[in-house]
Amino acid sequence: MSLSNTALDALERQIEARCKVLRSELHADADKARGESYAELSGDVADEGDASVADLLADIDNAELSRDLAELRALEAALERIAEGSYGSCIDCAQEIGFERLKAEPSALRCIGCQRVHEKTFAQPDRPKL
Ligand SMILES: [Zn+2]
Repeated sequence: MSLSNTALDALERQIEARCKVLRSELHADADKARGESYAELSGDVADEGDASVADLLADIDNAELSRDLAELRALEAALERIAEGSYGSCIDCAQEIGFERLKAEPSALRCIGCQRVHEKTFAQPDRPKL
């Protein structure tokens, strides 16, 4: 690993701080979701209009929740890589990912070059194979 200890420490602190924020957001969202389902159970039967709005809000909450959860998982994986010493190396070409890129995206698995190739490869809609 070619990141300096100082750089690594800074990134680790940054990741841990972000994890803390995400965890408290997830807790707040879960509490809110519990509160809402309780209100639904104890409240009067809502008419269809109310129900569809509630469904819409539930969907938005879930999308936010799963995005936060995905970010938290990715950051926890990054902390594991720091612990085992593999953090900061591109998983495709094994080159250094670079401090600036890691600072902007601490859970990055690839250097910018490989990330572009990866996105190009996986962003394509399915095409018939020739
Ligand atoms: Zn690479």
